[in-house]
Amino acid sequence: MAEDIFDLIIIGAGPGGYVAAIRAAQLGMRVAVVERNARLGGVCLNEGCIPSKALLDSSELFALARDKFSLHGIVIEPPRLDLAKMLARKDDVVKKLTDGVAFLFKKNKIALVQGTGRLQAPQNNEFHQVEVTPVRDLGLETREKNSDQGPGAGDREMQVLKGTRVLLATGSQPVELPFLPFDGKTIVSAREALSFESVPEHLLVVGGGYIGLELGSVWNRLGSQVTVVEMLPNLIPTSDGQVAEGLLRALKKQGFTFRMETRVTGATFAGGKLLVQVVSGDRKEEISCDRMLVAVGRRPLTAGLGLEALGVALDRSGRVSVDDKYQTSVPGIYAIGDLIAGPMLAHKAMEEGVVFAERLAGQASVVDYEFVPGIVYTWPEGASVGKTEEQLKQEKIPYAAGRFNFMGNGRARCMAETDGFVKVLAHQETGRVLGVHILGPRASDLIAEAVTVMTYGGSAADIAMTFHAHPTLSEALKEAALDVDKRAIHS
Ligand code: NAD
Repeated sequence: MAEDIFDLIIIGAGPGGYVAAIRAAQLGMRVAVVERNARLGGVCLNEGCIPSKALLDSSELFALARDKFSLHGIVIEPPRLDLAKMLARKDDVVKKLTDGVAFLFKKNKIALVQGTGRLQAPQNNEFHQVEVTPVRDLGLETREKNSDQGPGAGDREMQVLKGTRVLLATGSQPVELPFLPFDGKTIVSAREALSFESVPEHLLVVGGGYIGLELGSVWNRLGSQVTVVEMLPNLIPTSDGQVAEGLLRALKKQGFTFRMETRVTGATFAGGKLLVQVVSGDRKEEISCDRMLVAVGRRPLTAGLGLEALGVALDRSGRVSVDDKYQTSVPGIYAIGDLIAGPMLAHKAMEEGVVFAERLAGQASVVDYEFVPGIVYTWPEGASVGKTEEQLKQEKIPYAAGRFNFMGNGRARCMAETDGFVKVLAHQETGRVLGVHILGPRASDLIAEAVTVMTYGGSAADIAMTFHAHPTLSEALKEAALDVDKRAIHS
């Protein structure tokens, strides 16, 4: 093969694209990645999972010091917030991780090409072409960073890359309210809500999903009054009903206000405030706020990729249709992550990146979509894997439920974090675990055990008969598994 033809060109260096690039390079492929952003890592690293968790961790410490230290017999002056420093720490966490991805690219000899990628019509049957337009307004940092980052980096001319296969991994973008578009200052998406230069007095959040509750938590802990407007009757509508209910109660206790089954219909500016009109049933009202975070979902970022011209098929919801090897309707063009069906989660995109590359190399890898964990990083955290109780009922699958409250867990008591529970749902006849739902301290880490057990087809009895060190939060999972057969010890 000619030297200048890549085995794989990837458009987008988010969690799907960068992981696919590294795995493909490990498997011996010659890989180029086209990325228009100054920093690698996509939305997750730059304006999603990582900066939000950095702020969630910082704000949690702030709230602990303010609200809970006294419980532990620690008497301090009320803590003061240095928001600029908190934001700078968050930016530093992001920078270190994105630099880490750049290091991994170099280590794996992945060619990084800075610019916006677009598919060109193929010139022959041997390879595909990706046109890369330089981003004209890249910041200084980008120019400096890219001076030694492989072919094309630092080159401001448009160029065309040739490759035998192309992987589309451009991710997604936030959905706007059509009648209230983002203005970047008052009506904002998560990106801006990660960097407010001062704590808003009143933050209105539209959407009681992952982003709304996580960023709402950050600003609530830092002193904002937070009102969440959610159009459905439950928070995080796909989650287990008891988790959603428990979370609603816990967040209300923390000072959140919720307007459930309520829609935003418009807004006007008056006296430096945003007056937001909301409708609930036939009741109309106006809520005054300083900022409005719109977090009503995300849509796949397919625009500008040249999909129509090539005939790459989309499904009815606008996602790219792929087969089990992630190949689109056009041979040699593939897609993963938020562009295709399934939950828009970084870990789902990462798994797809690995499996895509391994299948390209002839391996028989698969993503087990039944066991994708979902986590909301509030406090208490919510974490789920598998079927919810509502789904089991709807699908008429016979099940037994075991539940254990953190109130009965020694370690949770020591931590003074007893809100929440673990619920294990197991098949009535076989005992196989069908779903695990946790609301509680560090649920995000606890769910990993459930994912492993379920992936290997384990039963509630398997969890119950396994050692869980004492005293740990993980004992709550063991007790919930025991409770499936009504033999929990501590409840
Ligand atoms: P989401 O789908 O999690 O939640 C959107 C919420 O907005 C839903 O509850 C929905 O009912 C509500 N809604 C929709 N339109 C509305 C309207 N007009 N008025 C009021 N409520 C409305 O979406 P998100 O929070 O924007 O997150 C986007 C994506 O990012 C999700 O797919 C999510 O999986 C992902 N994400 C995940 C995490 C995590 O895993 N911890 C964190 C952040 C984002």
